[in-house]
Parts: sequence; structure tokens; C-alpha cells
Amino acid sequence: MATAPTHLADSLPTPSAQSAEKPQKRKSRRRKTSHLKQVPESRELRESLKQRCAEVAAKLDKSRPLTKDEMESVARQLLQEAGEPEGFVGWIMVVLASEFYRDQVASVPPSRRLFLLPHCLKHAAGCPADYDEFGLDCKTCGACSIADFRGLAEDMGYKVLVAEGSPIVLKIIVSGHVDAIVGVACLNVLEKAIDKILLAGIPCMAVPLLSSDCRNTSVDEEWVNDMIRVEQQASSSKTRSYVHLMRAASQMFTPDALDHLAPRLRGGKRLSEVNGQGVAGLDPIAGTEAVAYDFLGRGGKYSRPFITLAVYDALTGGHGTAGDGAAHVAEFHDSVRRAAMSIETFHKASLVHDDIEDDDAFRYGDETLHRKLGTPTAINVGDYLIGLGYRLVSRESGHLGADVAADILDSLADAHMKLCEGQGAELLWRDAKDKRLKPIDALKIYALKTSPAFEAALFTGVRLAGEYGDYREPMKQFARNLGVAFQILNDLGDWQGDSHNKMTAGGDILGGRPTVLWALALAGLSPEDQEELLALIADDKTPPDKRIQRVRQLFNAADVFEQAHRLVDKHQQRAEAIADQIEPEHLRRLFYYLIDTVLDRPAEAEPTLVPATLLSSND
Ligand code: SF4
Repeated sequence: MATAPTHLADSLPTPSAQSAEKPQKRKSRRRKTSHLKQVPESRELRESLKQRCAEVAAKLDKSRPLTKDEMESVARQLLQEAGEPEGFVGWIMVVLASEFYRDQVASVPPSRRLFLLPHCLKHAAGCPADYDEFGLDCKTCGACSIADFRGLAEDMGYKVLVAEGSPIVLKIIVSGHVDAIVGVACLNVLEKAIDKILLAGIPCMAVPLLSSDCRNTSVDEEWVNDMIRVEQQASSSKTRSYVHLMRAASQMFTPDALDHLAPRLRGGKRLSEVNGQGVAGLDPIAGTEAVAYDFLGRGGKYSRPFITLAVYDALTGGHGTAGDGAAHVAEFHDSVRRAAMSIETFHKASLVHDDIEDDDAFRYGDETLHRKLGTPTAINVGDYLIGLGYRLVSRESGHLGADVAADILDSLADAHMKLCEGQGAELLWRDAKDKRLKPIDALKIYALKTSPAFEAALFTGVRLAGEYGDYREPMKQFARNLGVAFQILNDLGDWQGDSHNKMTAGGDILGGRPTVLWALALAGLSPEDQEELLALIADDKTPPDKRIQRVRQLFNAADVFEQAHRLVDKHQQRAEAIADQIEPEHLRRLFYYLIDTVLDRPAEAEPTLVPATLLSSND
């Protein structure tokens, strides 16, 4: 039996050091982690390590979430001192995080907790349950422990979901229905959840499954029952959380908030008030306004307004992330909210126009506006949203000051034009006969298409808080590097056939997008192979799957995927180097948070879904 981790407890960062010092140099995210996801075999060892995690967690500064690197470092040290192998690192990180947040989960009433269960706990052969939009609809047949756990949790008032996936969980949290998460999952799922849930500072606890083989797995049932039964009591610790800011960003787009922040000029009915008649039920003059407002509040992650609010908050004391109770929603002056709102309004306009240009059929689970109302009307709605975006800021010059409003409008206009240049370059390439492309040109298009909105969101937050000062150039470079790295990751995700962006691996090739992968392939292949690649994109006789298969072979021959990963690493490191120099600490931590969440990627050689990211152009 190993001894208590006194060395580790003694050497843990003190609260002041942990909060004031810059984190150590950050690691590349691209690495294999499967060897780090072993589960301690015996119940006795699991109990002993859990006890150590509780002791260590009690010594940690809980005023802010640990970064993933910090948590891994603590976990490794704990294992080293316990004489246990590094293979348990992933398991220890989950247990450590649970102990870190135990008292804050306890401070949330069970009716505001979400209990998550995985389907793989079910009895695989004979389970009579169906799936609905909320996951597995357990029939409580008694053949597995799902029914027991679910029954216990529901009796206590929990909301229960038998499903997996951090995007849906984050959505539920941001929508304000729950304030803490307790769950059971395998270490593969929990590894991804750590990126999304833990980094955001959401109170959570989890029990790892005893295996990750996705069929008839098992779990320490007593642990799960104990976790469900965590009694409600006040907590002395309050960890900083970005959820308060995410909620503030999201809530600006509820119908009532929209009407308050951007009163309708025509004061007409909302689309939801015309009993299914759609625009036909509206005063014709109020129709454009109603459709535009409906689209503005329809969906998405509202990541751009979140960034503006978060930057503003970080530069004005960080009160919005302060641990003021899990249910807290950060508050801002209406002028600040309107400026943040304007960026989403431009984004929504670009989505309407993008959908026309790509003739996409669906958006936010509904028919696209141009398919529903016709292209001319959709173009007009997009134009209306652009006008509304500018108006949201220009009308605030009285409160913000004319110079502040002018600077924000200037950064929005700049972003708007750059985005159009990037989109224009992509469309011109798509419609051109010559499909040659240099990697540098692909990267320029990426920088124009992805970074400007991000840059405008950052700039707006800075300018709302004061002068640009020394932030201008670092912000610009940060946005550029993060945007380019994100776009390359997105393209790599396309080749994994991820369900978030495209259903078919290699779909960007068929869609005719000028990707850096394509450019790297052309740069690396022999002249004969280049000709074959160019011919494949225009070949409409060969079935798509055969063409994609051959493109993949040629990409592999040119070492495209590895080169693209190296490009992501390079841009990520540049973004991190900028973040390292940013002051004050609240802003620096926000930058790290943005890097970790925007550039969240699956471990090398472990193809998984690319999780929803903050910068997705599709959200
Ligand atoms: S208890 Fe529920 S989940 Fe388990 S096998 Fe029966 S119906 Fe399926």
C-alpha cells in the first residue's frame, strides 16, 4: 500500500501562486492518450487512489478551474508518489476533478443537477428500450443498472439523460436548465468532456466505467449511488466559470431580450405569434423584420458575443466569471450587450448569404431561408441583418462615446470586408476551371474567412473597456493564428467524416472548397499525380466514394495530413506565445481557454468526432 501523498500536497501550487503566475509552457495537443486511460484493476486500489485524490483536491486553489495541463501534472505527481503507473493518469484526472468540484455540486439542489448515463451500461442483447430525441428511453426492465440509477436520481429530482456528447450537455447548461453535472462514462468520453465542461468551470462529478469497450460494461455501483446522493449543502468554494458569460451571451437572443435590446422598428408580431401562417400572417411591411428577428434568435452557440463579453469582463475586473453561484448570469450594461449582439447579427447575415451561395438545404434543423422564402427574399433578410448590426452600435454613441462607437464600427466594417474578400476568393476558385492552388494562398483565404469575425469580437471587447493601447497587434495576430489553426483542424475533421460538419469524409473535395490539404497535395505530388488529382475533382462519372478514396491515397502519398497537423501546431504555438504575454491575468486565462476550446482536437491516431468548437462557421 502506498503512503499518503504528503509530498504532493506540500508541493501543490499555493492559491496565490496558482492564480498569479503564468502557467508553464503549454503542451502540443496532438498526442496519443490511449495508454493513459487504464482503470485500476482492484476495487481496493481504486478506493485508495480516490482517497488520495480527495486529499489532494482539498489543497488545491478552487478559485479558478485547473487547466488540463495542470490537472495532468497533479495527477502524474500523485501517481508517482503512490508508486502507481502513468497509465492511470486519465482515470486520476477524472476522480481528481470530481473531488475538486464535490462541494460545489453539493451546493446545487438535485433538481438543478443533470445526471448523465451511457447507453453502453444497458444489457446489449435484450434491452427493449428505444431511442428518442433525449437519448435512450429505458423501459426499466431490470436487466441492467440503468433503471436503478435512473430511478434513484429521478426520485431525488435530478434531470436524467441516457446519452453522450459534451455539446448537448453544454447547451443544456448554457440554456440555464441545470447548474451542475454528475455522470457515468468511459474514459474516452470523459477525456473529451474535460475539454468542454471542466475548462468552462462547470461543477461536475463523474464515475469512470470499468472498461471502454462500448458493450455490456460495468461501473462501481456504490460510487455512482454515493455520487447521486451527494447531499445539498452550502459550499465555501466558488470556482470562476465562463458559464455565467456564455449564459449572458445566449440570453441576449431570447425573444424578450431581443425586443428589449433591439426594439422592432415596425413593432409587428413575432413569427411565433401568427399561428403557423408564417410571413403570410404578417403585415407586409413588418415581414422582413419578423423573419430577420426570428432567424437571429434561432440557434447557434453565440460564441462571438461571448468572446466580446468575456474580453470586456476580463479587462474590467473579471466579475462576470467570479464564482457567484452556479446559477449566476453575468450582467452588463445594455450598451455593452448591444455591441456584443451586433457581431452575432453580422454572423447571422453571413450565414443567410452563405446558404444561398452554397445552396444549403438546412440551417438550425429547419429549411434554409432561401429554400423557404426564395433567394431574393433571403438576400434581403441578410442585408437587413447587416443594417441592424451597424445600427446596434451606432445608436449607442451617446452612452459609449462617439469615438468608441466609431472605432467599433470601423473594426466591424473591416471584418465585414475581409470576410467578403475571403468568401469571394473561395467562390472564384470554386467556379474556376483551373483548380491549382498554392498553400500560401489557401492560408490567406483561411485568414480572411475565419479570423476577422473573431478579431472584431476581441477588438470590440477591448474598446468597450477602454483604449486599444498595446492590444491591437497581439489581438490581430492571436485571431489570425487561432482562426487559421481552427480552419485547418476543420478540414482535417472533414476527412474523418465527422458528424458535426459533414456527413461524408472528404466532403470538401466534392463541394469544391479550396483547402490547404488540397494545396499541400498539389505541392507534394509528382506532375503525373497532380494531373490525376486535378482530374478527380471534375470527374462526375466515377462514384463519389471511389473518388474520395483515391484522393485520400494521393493525400497520404503527399504526406498531407501530417503536414497539416504540423501547421496546426505552428499556429497554435504562435497563439500560445501571444497569450503568454497578455496582461492582465483574466485576459490571459481567457486566451488560453479560447485556444483549448477552439483548437480542441482528437488525440493522434484515435479518430473521433471533432467536437463542436467556438469558431465553427456553421453554428
Ligand atoms: S433496464 Fe432499461 S436500459 Fe437496462 S436493459 Fe432494461 S430497458 Fe434497457
